[in-house]
Amino acid sequence: MDSSDDEGEEYLFKIVIIGDSAVGKSNLLTRYARNEFNLHSKATIGVEFQTQTLEIDGKEVKAQIWDTAGQERFRAVTSAYYRGAFGALVVYDISRRTTFDSIPRWLDELKTHSDTTVARILVGNKCDLENIRAVSVEEGKSLAESEGMFFMETSALDSTNVNKAFEIVIREIYNSVSRKVL
Ligand code: GDP
Repeated sequence: MDSSDDEGEEYLFKIVIIGDSAVGKSNLLTRYARNEFNLHSKATIGVEFQTQTLEIDGKEVKAQIWDTAGQERFRAVTSAYYRGAFGALVVYDISRRTTFDSIPRWLDELKTHSDTTVARILVGNKCDLENIRAVSVEEGKSLAESEGMFFMETSALDSTNVNKAFEIVIREIYNSVSRKVL
């Protein structure tokens, strides 16, 4: 938590999105923060973040959500990217098996660079591509269970579960922080 103000009751949490290239990380973020979707991957390289505010228990909870913006193409997601993160969306593409096979590597990387208490959700994105599904819902669920993570299939294209996935993480962080405060 970067800021907590007794009078204003404002919270600010950093959340990171990780996963292989082209699984839809940027589009999940723009869908959540701006309700937009882009058909073509952008070429920009460099970390970007967007802030989204949620009201929980009458308090303003701000999530600063970071997108790798292509760094992972070069296996160059730096420790600075993870620093201070309270939550993580770990994303694969349900239509590309290799992106699911990479999840353990992303979880290891997350463990190496962040606190053990990071709130994590496994996200199977592109669930609109049911006709070319390569990873079953059960496989996703069972991996998430074995890692003690939340799980959700999403579509940044048609908006399915996108808000839910982010909000599960934000509420979990908020709950664990307010438990500590009380
Ligand atoms: P990133 O590299 O992980 O940030 O992935 P992008 O957000 O740039 O998306 C990669 C490609 O997948 C783009 O062509 C997107 O239009 C497409 N894409 C992203 N999310 C979805 C989705 O939910 N469904 C479908 N069908 N395509 C998606």
